[in-house]
Amino acid sequence: MYMISLLVFVFGLTIGSFINCLVWRLHKKQTILGRSYCPNCKHQLAWFDNIPLVSYIFLRGKCRYCTKPISMQYPMVELIVGLLFAFAFYYHFQSVSPSFFWAKQFPTISFLSLIRDWFLISVMMIIFIYDLRWYLILDIVTLPSIIIVLLLNIIIGHLTADASANFYWQQLLISGIIGGGFFLLQFIISNGRWIGGGDIRLGLLMGVALGWPNILVALFLAYICGAVIGIGLILAGRKKWGSEIPFGIFLSVSTLVTLFFGNQILTWYLNILK
Ligand SMILES: [Zn+2]
Repeated sequence: MYMISLLVFVFGLTIGSFINCLVWRLHKKQTILGRSYCPNCKHQLAWFDNIPLVSYIFLRGKCRYCTKPISMQYPMVELIVGLLFAFAFYYHFQSVSPSFFWAKQFPTISFLSLIRDWFLISVMMIIFIYDLRWYLILDIVTLPSIIIVLLLNIIIGHLTADASANFYWQQLLISGIIGGGFFLLQFIISNGRWIGGGDIRLGLLMGVALGWPNILVALFLAYICGAVIGIGLILAGRKKWGSEIPFGIFLSVSTLVTLFFGNQILTWYLNILK
């Protein structure tokens, strides 16, 4: 399994590299086709300038043509996506013996769950970077994702055939309404001043991704992280009270944490209450 995990890690690195490129091109409103180039000197990059992680280390973080430093964002995103992809694989397939790969007997639920989680890791990474840099959650990212993740989870819930499972369609309906409605309510009350419309769509995506009751865990986590980091920034003098903090960064992180550890967090929390 370690050998396969390593291959998955390398696969994740390339997806991370693709995400970097995609975020940049979404911002510049360019097509995703066409060769990569240096954002500073516009020189086209050769294939060997573009190998995830390896090129950054080899070039010592500088553009080969204009020697301008390359943003740390690029290798960081590649590394994090690579690790998360490998982790998701390990998470769903740790209990499966390697021989099933060669026998081509894929357990369908694990396989679909892995695809969904890889997809969510990629989407949440895009939302995180974009919101951090430009304070925006793009509909072109959230809306198609809602449909894809909802369909995957309906199939997974159907295969699980357990009406109490997180992804059974009733649970998805409840959590979708809660995720979207939670932000819609704040949007209406504040007349759009507290949050943007992008948060409503992201809330809906979180709902259909996590199911009931895990959507509550994710919202709860996001608000705790937001409060702790927000107060920290104010105390450190980096932000003023009431200044804007892109909330999408907390929502995207809490979604991924809940995706893998939601049930444990819930059990732990309910045990404290007892
Ligand atoms: Zn350059």
